[in-house]
Amino acid sequence: MKNRSLLMIPGPIEFEPAVLNAMSGSTTSHVAPDFIEVFGQALERLRKVFLSDDGQPLVLAGSGTLAMDTVAANLVEPEDQVLVINTGYFGDRYGDILQRYGASVTHVRAPVGGRPSLGEVEQALNSGGYKLMTVTHVDTSTGVITDIQGLAKLAHQYGALIIVDGVCSVAGEEIQMSAWGIDVVFTASQKAVGVPPGLALAVVGPDALKAFQSRRTPVLNYYADWTNWLPIMQAYETRKASYFGTPPVNLIWALNVSLGQILSEGMQTRFQRHHALSVTCKSALETLGMGQVPLKPELAANTMSAPRFPQGISGAKFLPEVAKTGVILAGGLHPEIKSEYFRIGHMGAVKLGDILATIGAIETALSSQGYAFDAGAGVQAAMRAYERLSAG
Ligand code: PMP
Repeated sequence: MKNRSLLMIPGPIEFEPAVLNAMSGSTTSHVAPDFIEVFGQALERLRKVFLSDDGQPLVLAGSGTLAMDTVAANLVEPEDQVLVINTGYFGDRYGDILQRYGASVTHVRAPVGGRPSLGEVEQALNSGGYKLMTVTHVDTSTGVITDIQGLAKLAHQYGALIIVDGVCSVAGEEIQMSAWGIDVVFTASQKAVGVPPGLALAVVGPDALKAFQSRRTPVLNYYADWTNWLPIMQAYETRKASYFGTPPVNLIWALNVSLGQILSEGMQTRFQRHHALSVTCKSALETLGMGQVPLKPELAANTMSAPRFPQGISGAKFLPEVAKTGVILAGGLHPEIKSEYFRIGHMGAVKLGDILATIGAIETALSSQGYAFDAGAGVQAAMRAYERLSAG
């Protein structure tokens, strides 16, 4: 029996074999001509995946939290006012990071599973001179998606730069960085970008670069300082050797392969696939009698689902039962409702078969706790939803 399972958590995800193979090649020098070419290509491809015409891509060794940190460190100066559009755990985290760099942070919050309305955000923007507004596109603790296009318009109306935490969305949810006027988008490699954990990725638009260049004070973080990294990224993109800190050579080979696969699928096709598989998964969960953490269907992300346990089901027993079938799901993360729900990631290389296996595993675990439902009803609902979408 093969020792394997299907990883359906909201990151890390299942990776394509070609991406994993790219990681296992021998490590070259970071200034070897073939690596310079690969890094240069990866930077060009990042701009395309983020749908940015003129942004500056950045690739750093680190996780998504480093991506949050580097953007805050470079764009915040002590006493700058920052508005955090908070839809969960990662909004709280961003508030903490911004405060570390001396920002005066205001959160606009919503009840768990909701998101602040554009009207509430506008009211907050109206009351202060905000330099930055940060938004979590998909908060992985709630599965709530925000309207970053609408928020970007508002931010510009009030003279604030908009920073999007796209860790659980880039390359899965639609983001048109230039067309929608988003100033910075960042992510991490292990989610819909489809590369094992270890890369913090960002694209910085021209207005955010200007704000960085007109700082009055030094960046309060040595490693994350863009003064060190911008010349490196620019050198690799023009196919020149350069050094500040050793780049994660193997991960960058893998990144270039994954970005190539993403672009050959096509961004619109990819967004539609994520949408179709999300609807498929959520239809099955509904048929099985499970509610969702997002308070309304239109607030739910396409990259993940956050189902609530039905009454009488013990969360502590449920996930180990699912795991026995060979499918790995994630527990709750939001501190207020942690034990009431679980999380399914469906992003990146995910296929219909993965969703069907996941729903089958969920049915098996429900059954083991004596939950009353028609066996196979979830799987059937998933298949019907998928067929409807494919026909339409
Ligand atoms: N933001 C969001 C929306 C996330 O989902 C995560 C990770 N789950 C992070 C930030 C932090 O990323 P990392 O765990 O890679 O540091």
